Amino acid sequence: MLEHFIPYSTQSIDESDKKSVIKALFSSHLTQGELVSTFEDLIAKFIGTKHAITFNSATSALYAAFYALKKSLNPQKTYSIITTPITFVATTNMMLAHNITPIFGDIDMSGKLKLEGLQNLVREDTIAICTMDYGGSSVDMSGFREFADRHNLIWISDSSHAFGGSVDNVKIGSMADMSIFSFHALKPITTCEGGAMVCSNDEYADSARLVCSHGIVKKALYNQDCVDLGFNFRLSEVAAALGISQLKRLDSFIDKREEIARFYDNAFLDNPYFSIIKLKDNERSTRHLYPILLHREYVCGKEALAQKLVEKNIGVQVHYKPIYNFSHYQRFNYPILRNAEDFYHAELSIPCHQSMNLNNAKIIADEILSVFG
Ligand SMILES: *Cc1c(COP(=O)(O)O)cnc(C)c1O
Repeated sequence: MLEHFIPYSTQSIDESDKKSVIKALFSSHLTQGELVSTFEDLIAKFIGTKHAITFNSATSALYAAFYALKKSLNPQKTYSIITTPITFVATTNMMLAHNITPIFGDIDMSGKLKLEGLQNLVREDTIAICTMDYGGSSVDMSGFREFADRHNLIWISDSSHAFGGSVDNVKIGSMADMSIFSFHALKPITTCEGGAMVCSNDEYADSARLVCSHGIVKKALYNQDCVDLGFNFRLSEVAAALGISQLKRLDSFIDKREEIARFYDNAFLDNPYFSIIKLKDNERSTRHLYPILLHREYVCGKEALAQKLVEKNIGVQVHYKPIYNFSHYQRFNYPILRNAEDFYHAELSIPCHQSMNLNNAKIIADEILSVFG
């Protein structure tokens, strides 16, 4: 048995992170200084977009992306966005914040929005498609790019799980019109709380910066104008310092999670209880999650199994309950989606992160197989 509880995901903070943070903490500016700009430049360069705008969370970044999207549209009209029900609720909550109606498409068994049949969901008022790179594995980038272009939709990618992921060396976040990353503690790198929106469109970037900082534009030293309703969604200098330091460690984080995930892939090969999600050879997933999918006969026992695993110090979680099931979403009368339901019932995320080692993974794999047995 594991000596200590191992959560399904956790951060890794080392001496280099600590040094970077302490230095920022004792600098002249704790907010709106050079570190945030530097972090943004590094993110844009890393992803390969013209702009990166940081926020105090990915939720704020999502808010800003939908804000930028609506900016050029008629404020009197109502709009909809096609998205996935298997995501964190912030994805669609931020649509509701802009009075945009989410339309849910079904997923495939990799947990991601299924392209096939999606054209049937496009309505008169549909302005965008919003995908989510479940677990850090990219959606079909060229497929969604082509779909969005063909239907004259903007493609927004909630890539909160996927900072550092790629397919054929094409970075996740480089092909959508706007992509959002999360730097929450459990995500691929962390700034404690934080997020970013990347894009190459100047207007989207300007809009996102505007709403991030009170809707204020500076005209001269003290002459400012507030041109629209805005907020304070800014990342602090101290958080940016942590982000800059974490960015240097990102590759090693992903390598570590990949090593653990590959170990699980082998350990669980052909087991009689559950299946795993096989990744494609040409993709680099951030392995934010390591999901196992219980075979049908074990689904009704999932709660008891999860409880047993927690008792054995193995942190597990379910990602995600389909959003249309939430109380706040009942008023839309959404139809039930078959795969989304099956996925939710079958899925269990097990520990896979940079703060554990192969020995932990071996114990976890053995325990899981024995608990199912
Ligand atoms: C974590 C997460 C968010 C929210 O990120 P925060 O930085 O915590 O606001 C949004 N969408 C998805 C898919 C997430 O996993």
